[in-house]
Amino acid sequence: MKALRDTVLRRIEGKRADLVALTRALVSIPTVNPPGEHYEDCARLIGERLARARFEVRFERAVGAVGDSDRYPRVNVVARREGGRPGATVHFNGHIDVVAVGSGWQHDPFAAEVRDGRIYGRGTCDMKGGLAAAIVAVEALLETEPAFPGALEVSGTADEESGGYGGVAWLAERGYFSQPRVDHVIIPEPLNKDRVCLGHRGVWWAKLETFGRMAHGSMPFLGDSAIRHMGAVLQAFEEELYPRLARQRTDMPVVPEGARQSTLNINAIHGGQGEDFDGLPAPLVADACRLVLDRRFLIEENLTDVKAEVRDILDRLAGTRPGFRYRLDDLFEVVPSMTDRDAPVAVALASAVESVLGRPAQFVVSPGTYDQKHVDRIGRLRNCVAYGPGILDLAHQPDEYVAVDDLVDAAQVMALAAWDLLHGAGR
Ligand SMILES: [Zn+2]
Repeated sequence: MKALRDTVLRRIEGKRADLVALTRALVSIPTVNPPGEHYEDCARLIGERLARARFEVRFERAVGAVGDSDRYPRVNVVARREGGRPGATVHFNGHIDVVAVGSGWQHDPFAAEVRDGRIYGRGTCDMKGGLAAAIVAVEALLETEPAFPGALEVSGTADEESGGYGGVAWLAERGYFSQPRVDHVIIPEPLNKDRVCLGHRGVWWAKLETFGRMAHGSMPFLGDSAIRHMGAVLQAFEEELYPRLARQRTDMPVVPEGARQSTLNINAIHGGQGEDFDGLPAPLVADACRLVLDRRFLIEENLTDVKAEVRDILDRLAGTRPGFRYRLDDLFEVVPSMTDRDAPVAVALASAVESVLGRPAQFVVSPGTYDQKHVDRIGRLRNCVAYGPGILDLAHQPDEYVAVDDLVDAAQVMALAAWDLLHGAGR
């Protein structure tokens, strides 16, 4: 057994150039989301490669999902290879979409240049490098033990960056992320190669509107400013809500440490006349002001209380501040997800990190959400974590990169962990 494990590690080392080439090929397809471009090309590249490794490959277009259209089809790929005898199924899932390029790049974002041991480009870190490492890991396993026990799956899925509804959520609703089909799911998101990510905090996005009455700007006393009403909301947030959130600490091992508490971001605010004009503004009292809030919450909190905290402040203002009227609409919500650190998939990855890197793994929780939520909530599969190469802080940044050494190390970790799970670890 030990000898075979060592063979897998050596094989992966021997595939270093292939791993770089695969990462570069994936990055060179600009799968920018929104709107969700070139998903099909990227899914085909993955599917054709895995078909050569004798996987049974399915392309699943998420017909009817948000954003799916003939122009921007949400094409996912799911590949499965049965082993030679019964056993567990290990699934590697990577999202194929990347966020917009943005400004500030020194490198061509889709040329995937290799320089000084790094591959630069949009999606190198988040997370085509991780997906390539998972593919090379399973190929090395298959070459080492073609009649392995259980089954291996790899999926490349759409839309993670916009919520995953045309990707993992859509597939989970069709049984792709549930038992008995799948037992263990590893998502190679860039959490650093020595960390096993158990889950993520919860999210509540909402749109808040305050209302007023228009009047001439020279006689504001004849109107009622929706912007001043929103100012009162912000003041109450500063005085009451932010201090309370700072006191709400979590036992979840969230990284970075600053996110080990409840947080609130004001994503956007707008009141009065728009800025899409040239020239001087009209003198008007604003009759509406809108704000989008992004509240991240902890496993120790529940969503009902999280919403009530905000609504209580608004209702109090409505009772005490003359003319105050508001409307609060939910935009998006995700409950926190956290896999047990004794779950077989977490234990297998941690021990593989120690074997490959020679130091103990750190268990962490992500400040933001990722597709684990759908595996947990829709697939009802608790045995899911994120593990992958790439430095978390580089995700979504200009000049995003992944180090080639990290790709190789993470592929070795994923291969050893999958090996242990296939051979019955935790059963
Ligand atoms: Zn990602």
